[in-house]
Formats: sequence, C-alpha cells, structure tokens
Amino acid sequence: MAAGLLLEGGTVYDGLGNPGRVADVAVAGGRVVAVGGDPPAGLRRIDCHGLAVAPGFVDTHAHSDLVHLGDQPQPFKLLQGVTTEVVGNCGLTFAPLDPASAEVAAELWSSLAGGVPIEPSGFGALAGRLDRAGPANNLALLVGHGTLRLTVNGLDEELRPGAAERMAALAAEAFEAGAVGLSSGLIYVPGSYAGTGELVALARVAAGYGGTYATHMRDEGPHLAAALDEAVTIARAAGARLQVSHCKAAGRTAHGGGPMLLERLAAAGWRGSTPRATSTRTTPGRPC
Ligand SMILES: [Zn+2]
Repeated sequence: MAAGLLLEGGTVYDGLGNPGRVADVAVAGGRVVAVGGDPPAGLRRIDCHGLAVAPGFVDTHAHSDLVHLGDQPQPFKLLQGVTTEVVGNCGLTFAPLDPASAEVAAELWSSLAGGVPIEPSGFGALAGRLDRAGPANNLALLVGHGTLRLTVNGLDEELRPGAAERMAALAAEAFEAGAVGLSSGLIYVPGSYAGTGELVALARVAAGYGGTYATHMRDEGPHLAAALDEAVTIARAAGARLQVSHCKAAGRTAHGGGPMLLERLAAAGWRGSTPRATSTRTTPGRPC
C-alpha cells in the first residue's frame, strides 16, 4: 500500500476563510496532494464523515521551548491540532545563556523548562538541538529580551557600560540563527528594568531581519492604556510588527478595559501598514 492517507468525507476548512465543503483529502509523502477529485490509489483510508478537516493550527504564544528535549514525546499540542508553535515569549528564552546567566535562569524560569536542564548555550546551538530532537511539531523561536539582559547585565537594574551594544550583538546572532522576532516580558525581572529606549534599540535589530516585536506588556491592569501605548511606540519607532501577547485587561482595576484595548490596537493598525498590531490569547494552563 502506498505511504499516505485518504481523509474521506470530512468537511474541509482551508484556513483562508472560505466556507467548509465536503471533500476527500489525499496526503502522500508528507504533503496534501489532492483535495477532491481523483486521489492516488492505495492510500490508507480514514473515515472523516461528520468531522472537520483543516490545516494545522499555529499557536502564536507558547512556552514549550524545551519540550522537544524532554524524555518522552509529548503530543498534547498535536492532539489539539496545533502543528506550529511560536515559543520564546515574554522575554524568557533559554539562549543565549552563559554559565552565570544559565544558573540564574534555572532559578527564575525552571517552571518553564518542563524538567529539561537549563544549560549555557548560544542561540543557534539551542535551535540546532531542538531541530535534531524531532520529530515533533514545528517551532518558530523568538529571542527574549530578558535573557539577553540577564546574560550581559546580570540582575542589575542599570545597564553596565557596553551592555546595550552586547545585547544588540547577541540579538543579531539570534536572528542570523533563525529567530523570528524579539520578545519582552516587562513585568518580569530583569525585563522590567528596561526603559522604552532600550527596547526600541533591540526591536530595531529585530526589524532589520524582518522580525516581530512580541511583548508581555508592562502592565495589564490599572496602567493598561499606558502600557499599550508604550508597546505601539516601541514597534513604530523600530519599524517592527507588533504582537501583544495574551492580550487582556487583567483584574478589577482594568475591568471593562477590553474595548479600549481593542480600539487602540485597531487604531495603531490603521495608522499604517507598519507596524501591524495583532493580538493573541494565552494558551490555557500555560505560564505567561
Ligand atoms: Zn507573558
């Protein structure tokens, strides 16, 4: 029998916004080779009547950076239909780390590591390890501002001489190695120590590589509007696309702030094609 699948009789949602339609989908050699029409012969048939058939979902906010390196396959995302995850959110990534920053990262962020040891590593080296550890779902990696800052500046609040330049150089290395954007976590130490200018400078490096600026904003409660304005300011000054992570109005003091949040995001998007403001929700049950 030929290697491949024939998904029979499901309702196909193509991901382009078109209405669903009933069609057989043939998959061979790891690719969709036919939707409707005559499929190749000899495929393994799976009855999908009454089910939806769709392209894999992209989870744009995940913290499963190191799951590929775990002891056992963890198919929880695939079982939800997610085939691609964007990881490295909230400023917290597991590279680039030197021995000193790896030690601190292990204290601060071990809950995000899923039991995988946090070790010193360059960004490209970690990306390579993840790549070789498959098969699993696809990962798109952000590089975290908090990690860059931890590695060049420890947990000091003030930037040391040369620290901004070193962060920019390490960020550029990460983008050269395939990072798709810069993330920040401005409620977490040490990311919270950064002023707007520091973030603009690094987001500008990201923009130079076509990368996104993804941010866990400085505040999601009483100072939500100011935090959102800062995020837009950073993206605009850097010329980067903006991703507001797990976009929400949190807590009693921000109750009712949702419409304001969405209006400001929409207005930021309307003011120009760059930056293009988008938002995501937090994956339930995952740290943010
Ligand atoms: Zn977050």
